[in-house]
Amino acid sequence: MADYAIAPPPQPVVPVEGETAAFPVRRILCVGRNCAAHRREMGGDDRDPPFFFTKPADAVVTPGRDPAYPSRTANLHHEIELVVAIGAEGADVAPDAALDLVFGYAVGVDLTRRDLQAAARDKGQPWDAAKAFDDSAPISAIRRWSGPAPQGRITLSVNGETRQDAVVADMIWNLPEIVSEASKLWRLMPGDLIFTGTPEGVGPLVRGDRVEGEVDGVGRLAFEVT
Ligand code: MN
Repeated sequence: MADYAIAPPPQPVVPVEGETAAFPVRRILCVGRNCAAHRREMGGDDRDPPFFFTKPADAVVTPGRDPAYPSRTANLHHEIELVVAIGAEGADVAPDAALDLVFGYAVGVDLTRRDLQAAARDKGQPWDAAKAFDDSAPISAIRRWSGPAPQGRITLSVNGETRQDAVVADMIWNLPEIVSEASKLWRLMPGDLIFTGTPEGVGPLVRGDRVEGEVDGVGRLAFEVT
């Protein structure tokens, strides 16, 4: 065993539905602008293709925990997303082989400091402070999966009121394309998570809000902003 100068940080994990062994998170890739209607509500150009950004592995907030309202923002937003959990190594993988890398799927919320994102975008600065903060990735348990990717309804409600209600199959890049595109930019490894982009209807959260999200056939998550 290696000798460390400080205590090594704990390994972030996400539970696997119905199993005692958890999924260790290596890193989190996220797709931006993967829905035409969301791209428009963000003021994007209709020709802009989707792209990637990242969050640290320890941004995950697992079932039973509640995310803290982050510092330095007055406009925290919810983005409900289908999350892919990668279970096999792959680089430069074609779309028709991409789903072979999938361990399973989960439901996630890409929490966003929208005010800091807008300021960064205006100045051409990176998005890290807007996207990659502590507790910025609430996630459900992972459901093991083989075969065709989920295609169904994706919804999010706040205090019982529906805010986002769309269909996974309507996204610009489909699941095989997302995994393939990611594998052209990074060597995907077991433990990687990919947040696949949100549909339209993003909006603000305040302390005390109760958030519930669901992807048909994949699972549900629920948390309170504290
Ligand atoms: Mn997002």
